[in-house]
Amino acid sequence: MSFKPFNFLLLVLSGILSLAGPAYSALVHPKDDPDVAPHIQRKYFELRQEDRPRSDMTELQARQLISDFFDFFKLQDEAANLKIDLDWGNPYLSAHAEMRGAASVVTVWGGFLRAPGMSPMILATTLCHELGHVIGGAPYQTIKGAEFSTEGQSDFFAGLNCLPRFAHAFPQYFSDPTAEVQEICQGKNDCASTLSAGLATVQFMQKWSFVSYEPVSLKSSAPEVQDYRPNYYPSFQCRLDIFSRAAVCLRDRNGKCPPPTCWWPQERTYPPTEGA
Ligand SMILES: [Zn+2]
Repeated sequence: MSFKPFNFLLLVLSGILSLAGPAYSALVHPKDDPDVAPHIQRKYFELRQEDRPRSDMTELQARQLISDFFDFFKLQDEAANLKIDLDWGNPYLSAHAEMRGAASVVTVWGGFLRAPGMSPMILATTLCHELGHVIGGAPYQTIKGAEFSTEGQSDFFAGLNCLPRFAHAFPQYFSDPTAEVQEICQGKNDCASTLSAGLATVQFMQKWSFVSYEPVSLKSSAPEVQDYRPNYYPSFQCRLDIFSRAAVCLRDRNGKCPPPTCWWPQERTYPPTEGA
């Protein structure tokens, strides 16, 4: 979900996505996960159509959601020069944003959509994250030639801004909140949409990665960051913390919404000045 295709190794998302409720069984190494093992190719994931990976998402469903997403944000004039490309035939597990001339292009590859555990809610979250790279604002990555919001800021934008509005317009893409999410969100729909979508997406990423086998949880939180690194992904738990913080802010709406310190150190101000 960054601008380099093979950055997806870091961004690969985790599933165990029972719509009925969270399944917090221990995560296993991808080679021991029957959903994942057939698709490991040298530490990346290749989900060819002929291998019949078991995602429920069809090309038609993906194209419809992407079209709805694009039209929604285009209409609101927030996505000038944005393009969203779906390459269904591409077997690799990735979604990413990049600049092509004046255009910001979000690309979603078929392998990502065919990965078992993929759902409309996760695709919506992914598009929101990628849109966040483009219009999410400061803080920015410091990679030369890439004027993109950081990974943490893209998640924060997705959770706080993009997901609640998209869910309001297209509730059919969002699953009913689990009991755990309902308890946190206390009947507030925006909160529930962001938290459900963020949790499902981070679990999906975690399943399809070689990074961490300790399942993320709404009951824990990542430690405060010691060394702010604008060009790196926060940990999976921290990414869930970012969505959780956004959800709680949507629930309380008390005007202040600082990001969690696992991503943005407490002593810094937020939002930072442009160019930070
Ligand atoms: Zn990203």
